[in-house]
Amino acid sequence: MGKIGLQFKATLENVTHLRPVGEDFRWYLKLKCGNCGEVSEKWQYLRLMDSHPLKGGRGSATMVQKCKLCSRENSIDILSHTMKPYNAEDSETFKTIVEFECRGLEPVDFQPQASSMNVLGSMAAFLNHLFLKHKLLL
Ligand SMILES: [Zn+2]
Repeated sequence: MGKIGLQFKATLENVTHLRPVGEDFRWYLKLKCGNCGEVSEKWQYLRLMDSHPLKGGRGSATMVQKCKLCSRENSIDILSHTMKPYNAEDSETFKTIVEFECRGLEPVDFQPQASSMNVLGSMAAFLNHLFLKHKLLL
């Protein structure tokens, strides 16, 4: 499954940049099981600060989750070095603002939480003009 980038597009008016702030920033996602295709009904969040051990001493991941349907253990990681602010010059264009390393769990939808973004300027402009596209990078 590999890496999946979250692409973001917004119209920034009187806003210099948007960026996720801090280790506890919550990326609200709907996640799909790569094995059986089950999509979580509820929004789930990933935080950089979270780390859960993988079975069999294979390191750790931001989220480890057993699929309710097929019982497959899946995991997903936030790649912290790929996180980028969305700047005024990016307005109206898609930009990849974060990448996830996916091992069985694939993000299929994203819900931005404006209250936790560091927004300078008009929040309304941001909320009213938001689009999302996922792009398979690998
Ligand atoms: Zn499944």
